[in-house]
Amino acid sequence: MKRPALLLIALSFALLSVLALGHLNQSAAVPAARDASPADLLSSVRDGGTKVIDCSYTYFEGMPGIKLPPPLANTKTFELTNISRYDERGPAWYWNWFSVGEHAGTHVDAPNHWISGRNNNGVDRIDVSELIAPAAVIDVTQKASSNPDYEITREDVLAWEKANGRIPNGAIVVMRSGWGKRWPDPAKFLGLDSNGAPHGPGFGDSAAEFLLKQRSIAGLAVDTVSTEAMALAGGKKPTPFPVHFMVHGAKKYQIEMLANAELLPAKGAVLIIAPVKVQNGSGAPARIYALVSSR
Ligand SMILES: [Zn+2]
Repeated sequence: MKRPALLLIALSFALLSVLALGHLNQSAAVPAARDASPADLLSSVRDGGTKVIDCSYTYFEGMPGIKLPPPLANTKTFELTNISRYDERGPAWYWNWFSVGEHAGTHVDAPNHWISGRNNNGVDRIDVSELIAPAAVIDVTQKASSNPDYEITREDVLAWEKANGRIPNGAIVVMRSGWGKRWPDPAKFLGLDSNGAPHGPGFGDSAAEFLLKQRSIAGLAVDTVSTEAMALAGGKKPTPFPVHFMVHGAKKYQIEMLANAELLPAKGAVLIIAPVKVQNGSGAPARIYALVSSR
């Protein structure tokens, strides 16, 4: 055999070996697909591989809450009444009862919250499988710090996708605006100006419409008091509060006043959302955890 032919055989052999090795390495790196069990999740939480972040605020009297202008009616936020505290009313026990708004503190807006979804599910009938959801976190902290009325645009969503891939099916799309730093000061959290009018960033119409029509999401979440930019949403748009109108009309839910949004990665967190099960409620206070990989 002439030298060039030998060289060709040697090169082919080398190439095949590299391909075979590559295949072997790939098989070694990717274990056979199987469903992770609840026990796998538990051990990952216990050994610190999965961090659990508390995304709910504590309820207390005087906590920040939405305030609508007259003549609209407003919600109670939270009131705690003591029944007994190791005293003559109950010598060995401490207990309270409380009253709370469906839309006070960290809470879920149910699909029947808005007139566009009046026949849709109340908070007790949201499918529990939709309440465990991947979080796609859109950061507008910079934009909101210079413009407290900032609205997330369709372009912001597309920019997120360019960096992180397509919004996952069943995702909660979270606005992170830096508003968490303002908690628990009511005036700061509501962004009250010198006239007492509220300000805060939110989702704009174009982003909400795109996410509801072009992607398959479970809902929206914000670290502010409303998914709408408060100063713009009321009387200044053709449809007042268009985000609520669109989201609930599409049978989706929302989360408002999500805590610790600044601790969530842009992608990869999983939210576990547990609203109180109020019969046909328009929403409810919710304990929300985020599971985040720490590796
Ligand atoms: Zn609400």
